Amino acid sequence: MVDARFDSFCINNNNIMPRLGKRSKSRLKGVDHRLVHLLEEVVKYFDITVIEGLRSQERQNELVKQGKSKTKFGKHVKGHAVDIAPYPIDWNARDDFHYLGGFVLGIANRLGYKVRWGGDWNASSLYKGKRTTKDNSFDDLVHFELLD
Ligand SMILES: [Zn+2]
Repeated sequence: MVDARFDSFCINNNNIMPRLGKRSKSRLKGVDHRLVHLLEEVVKYFDITVIEGLRSQERQNELVKQGKSKTKFGKHVKGHAVDIAPYPIDWNARDDFHYLGGFVLGIANRLGYKVRWGGDWNASSLYKGKRTTKDNSFDDLVHFELLD
């Protein structure tokens, strides 16, 4: 599926196929199979951890109250979104999250999945030729969601 040429750039190119850990896998229960497939591909090249997948409506309401989410019926509630981070997590390494963001979108494109990233909600760097994430009004750098 993923272009074999990626292998020469891959820091995990050590004949051991990296996989999602147990905790990450359990956090993907109830998540759309396309996102699960996407993350299984991503983790072969970029070590990640899953923070959250499927979310209850109660938790979504709480996050909106806290200002951590903008939507009452977010995609997490439907299993159409995941929050992931580079592993091990370093919350101060903002560049790493942007690196991962571009990486995930690239793999999603190869797989034919339409995915939106919380670091570039309007996908201006992808589709409109503006090449920027600086116009992003609400950064949610761990968030990836299906568009259809
Ligand atoms: Zn999210």
